[in-house]
Parts: sequence; structure tokens; C-alpha cells
Amino acid sequence: MNLTSARSPRHLLAKAGCVLAGTALVATLSAAPALAVGEGPNYNGHETVNTANLHTYDSMVQELKTQDARQNALELEVIGQSVKGRDLYLAKYLSDPANPTILFLTQQHGNEQLTTEGAIEVIKHLGTGRMADVLDDINILVLPMLNPDGAMGDVDFPLDDYIASGDRHLTRHNANNVDINRDHVAKTQPEIQALHQNVLSVYDIDYMIDLHHQGTQSRVDGKLVSGSILHPTTPDVDPAVLEGSKRLGAVVYASVDSTGWGHLGKYVGGTANTIARNGIAAEYDISTLLFEMRGMSDHENPDALLGQKSNGYLRQQTILTLESTIRAVASGEVETADTSIWDSLPEQAWEPRGDE
Ligand SMILES: [Zn+2]
Repeated sequence: MNLTSARSPRHLLAKAGCVLAGTALVATLSAAPALAVGEGPNYNGHETVNTANLHTYDSMVQELKTQDARQNALELEVIGQSVKGRDLYLAKYLSDPANPTILFLTQQHGNEQLTTEGAIEVIKHLGTGRMADVLDDINILVLPMLNPDGAMGDVDFPLDDYIASGDRHLTRHNANNVDINRDHVAKTQPEIQALHQNVLSVYDIDYMIDLHHQGTQSRVDGKLVSGSILHPTTPDVDPAVLEGSKRLGAVVYASVDSTGWGHLGKYVGGTANTIARNGIAAEYDISTLLFEMRGMSDHENPDALLGQKSNGYLRQQTILTLESTIRAVASGEVETADTSIWDSLPEQAWEPRGDE
């Protein structure tokens, strides 16, 4: 999302910061009855939002290499380089070309990092007994942190207004100050060229989830959402591909909504093919799903940020999303998922309006 057009001065923080009922969800994910439903604490200018507890690009790469050394089924590939020359990694579990294939993409926007944290956890889980049983029946591609320069704040524009403290700032745009999730048609940026040329054009991908964060203030049924989902809305998408997206979304909805702390709305998004959700579905016939989670790792706008105490459930929401869809695709359950939730899933109310 992009809240820069709706920046609020910091002196309005006290006014903007209605304190929510929820306080600490972090340690008690499975319990969490009344104060559940995505209502982690807002930042409110009171709590520290510190980027030092997130993986850096280097520590992420180190973890990927550690897992690669431990896991026979895992293969790491460098698919290209960022503007600043950082290698872009793809984690691959390729069992059989005849199996269905799912791609998980995180952090096109460098300041939306908790989805990457969750994806790294899933890669670890795939090397344990917890998920090992599925690997024979599916091909899994994980592309974490497509925008590492933004994630490291290694960009060619000033970051003076960014709020988080810690060892770095994280920015939406890449080092060239381009929103790479608007580049899926023109493909001008090296990160997007790597994704299209060396992943989307190479593998026979059936499903893809594009993971983002959307700020803190979206609601459904009067309650703050833990995230929102949306299928392709471009007129260029094949109806069967769209149906696959809706089935994939139905799997995600069922797994997250049943937790008690997950509360999802329907994202309100545009029809442009420049966005991954639309452009990749139209160009490659991949059933894409956008998942916009609550919060943001850094931003100029305090309303976009959640306190640290929300990190646990948002990371967990990513893990649940990836693992439930892996299981559903591997088992074939995704092919018969009931898409009727899309008829009843309410569009989230924006405050302010976001931008995937
Ligand atoms: Zn985003």
C-alpha cells in the first residue's frame, strides 16, 4: 500500500491513535479469545517500532544457505540482481514436473517484511517432519524479499521522514525510487526482469500468492482486519485462471478465519496489469492471489505502523497461509475448494485508502 498521499503530521498522533482493546497477542496465538481478530496494538507514537529484530538481507541469505545445506529437497537459485547488485534468491522444492506448482512472492515493497519472516519459517519447516510429507506431491517456489535494496534502505532517495528506529529504514520503492509492483508490464527494473525472465517464464506455475502489508486501519464488520485478499480483477484473465485464484483464496480464508485471531476482508484493488496480481495472471495464466496483511515494517506515516507486539500473529498468519495452501495444492483439495466465500466476503473499509 501507499499512504504517502495521506500523511498525517506527527503532532496528530494522539488524536489519531485510538487505543485498541488488544494488547499483547504475541505469545498466545492459539488462545487469544476476546482480544483476537487482528487487533494488535497500533504504534500510536508510543511504542518503539524497531527494525533491528527483522532479518537483514545478509542474515536472510545466511539462513537460506543454512537450510540449503541441511535440506536435500531444497535448491537455491540466484535469479538475478537488484539495482544495487544484491543477489535475488529463489528457494525451490521441485519434486516432479507433473506435480502442481505454487510460487510465494514476498516483499516487492521493501517496507513490508513480516511476510518474508514468515516465508523463512516455512522454508525451515519444510526441512522438518512437520511438512516433509507434502514434498512428493507438489513443487514449491519461494521468492523472499524481491526488493532487498528497499528492505535495507539502500536507496538513492532521502529517508528522513521514515519512523522506525533500529539499524536501518525500509522503503516501499526500490533503489531507483520505482514501485516495482507497477512494473509488471513495462518490466524496466532488474528485480522484475529477474522474476519474469528467470522464474515466471521458466517454471510451469499453477498458483501464486503475492504477499504484502496494507497499514493498520482497514475494517470489516466494524472490526480491524488482520488482512485482506483479492483475486485478479483484470479483464484479461482467463476465467479458469480466475476460478483457480478464487479456490486458492477460499483455502486461505478458511485457514486464517478459523483461527479466532484472523479476520479477513476483500481487498479493494484496481484492474491494471502493471500489478502482479493482474499482470502475472493475464500473461502466464497463473492463478494469483494478493494477500495484504495488517501493518508495515517502516513508513513515513504513523498510521501505517503497528507496534512490535503484533509481529507474532502477523508472522504466524503468513506461515498459516503458506502451509495451508501447500497442503491443499499437494493433496488436490484446492481443486474442489468452495469459492462461495467470495460472494459474501465484505470489502474492507479503508481509512485511509491504500494501494497494493
Ligand atoms: Zn505492498
